[in-house]
Amino acid sequence: MKSMNELNVPVPTKRSLVVRNNKEVTKEQRETALKETEYSMFSFPADMLILDFLSDSGSSSMTDLQWASLFHGDESYGRNKGYYVLLEAVRDIFERGNEPKKSINLILSGETNVKKLMEELYLKSHEGGFVNGGIHQLARPNAFLVPQGRCAEHLLFSTIAPILKERDPNNAYYIPNNGHFDTTEANIAANGMCPVNLFSANLFEDFPSDQMDVKNPFKGNMDSKELINCIEDKGVESIPLIYLTITNNTAAGQPVSLKNIKAISKIANSYNIPLFFDACRFAENAFFIKAFEEGYSNHSILEIVKEMFSYVDGFTISFKKDGLANIGGGLFFRDRGIFYEKFSNNGNIGTKLKEKQILTFGNDSYGGLSGRAIMSIAVGLYEVVKEQYLAERIRQVREFALKLSQKRVPVILPAGGHAVYINVAKFFEGTDMKIDDFRGVGFTIELLKHYGIRACELGPFAFEWDKKTPEQRKGILNLVRFAIPRNVYDSSHIDYAVAAITELYHNREKIPKVEVSRGANLRLRHFQSGLKPIYTK
Ligand SMILES: *Cc1c(COP(=O)(O)O)cnc(C)c1O
Repeated sequence: MKSMNELNVPVPTKRSLVVRNNKEVTKEQRETALKETEYSMFSFPADMLILDFLSDSGSSSMTDLQWASLFHGDESYGRNKGYYVLLEAVRDIFERGNEPKKSINLILSGETNVKKLMEELYLKSHEGGFVNGGIHQLARPNAFLVPQGRCAEHLLFSTIAPILKERDPNNAYYIPNNGHFDTTEANIAANGMCPVNLFSANLFEDFPSDQMDVKNPFKGNMDSKELINCIEDKGVESIPLIYLTITNNTAAGQPVSLKNIKAISKIANSYNIPLFFDACRFAENAFFIKAFEEGYSNHSILEIVKEMFSYVDGFTISFKKDGLANIGGGLFFRDRGIFYEKFSNNGNIGTKLKEKQILTFGNDSYGGLSGRAIMSIAVGLYEVVKEQYLAERIRQVREFALKLSQKRVPVILPAGGHAVYINVAKFFEGTDMKIDDFRGVGFTIELLKHYGIRACELGPFAFEWDKKTPEQRKGILNLVRFAIPRNVYDSSHIDYAVAAITELYHNREKIPKVEVSRGANLRLRHFQSGLKPIYTK
């Protein structure tokens, strides 16, 4: 008799506890709603959809353990108990590898030994890592809770920009990344600095779909030669920070290898430039390293995460990603590390960040989050590093990409960690498509109208091709993204999406061009401008 793993179908890893029923919506109703919302994907009422692939951000289902933790949430203004639990969870996940302390269990189990609570949580002293504790967090703040990832980006860049300006008012500053996320890019630009994308050279190389379970070329890596060129070209003083995004959302959600992380860290250190992670999908990235990078198959996810983070000086993170929680974000940097040293010569950088945090989001122990949310994030950190969960997560994304490629729909292969990306140029090959007629947006409009499925263009419209210089245009890819919320959909949802996308692919001649009808020059315009499809066939 075959074993369960030999049956050639995925072994189920979870069961549903609560169900939300879809509404029956007609095509005409969707058409009306599309028109009334100016064909903007972001403005369409979610309750009228059948499948929503707009974002995997905050849209995942929480686990039963997370729902249960909400009752432990503490809504106190000063030092709610979840604050201590979350700081400990961050130390556990990012710094302790196979030896997590799990002090969170003291709270979840209702520990009444006050001495123990004082020693292990409330008055715990800690320094030298990403999360100072006790008196050290007061004297040298280095851990900042905020409502979302972009708030952490805003906090970081709006605080360092005036410091840099004071240092040299006439200099231009560049932030290289293996692929800036849209809000990261916008926050850097809004603070007068220049975001630079150094995509891996192999990003668009063909990859055989039947090899996805066997190998991975880590197309999310940063081009390290280009990084050195960039530093030498602009000058060390002009690069305040280097960023690595794991996984690389803008580059089709592709993972970054530990080899690349090490190489970039070595370069950053040799120039004494702080290296930060945009750590939004650290757990999914760690899973790819375990599955595909030589020498890591016997390492636990926690060991790999620990090693990954040992090479960076700090990170910004959205707790809405990786299936962690429905809201939350953070900024963390190494106590007395390169970042601290470089930005503290005129007053402690941590204190400056904390002042801005209090001014904009709330005091440091809640940072604009409810006590309930903080508790669900802390529990979520332990949930998302479970290997069985990650394996199923990545398998489902791969299943979606594989089924599309079997129907000959051009998708970026191998599949990334959180989303499937259609290669728009290839999708429209043989038609009269032009890069600036936003045909990828036309595809998303038709998909929503006919089938009630929402996806998102991340291409010339979202990244504002028409407003950029030829040099800047090199950093723009032409993709439509299907981001998959975690623990929400099963194979029946994937099959419906594949059937709908394939039908549109066969009718691609009929997909309209799109014009921006309102607000073409708004900043981050894909969230706010109005659109108009132009039907010619
Ligand atoms: C989502 C995301 C962000 C921003 O996080 P929010 O919580 O949405 O503000 C930053 N970087 C990457 C790579 C992301 O995917």
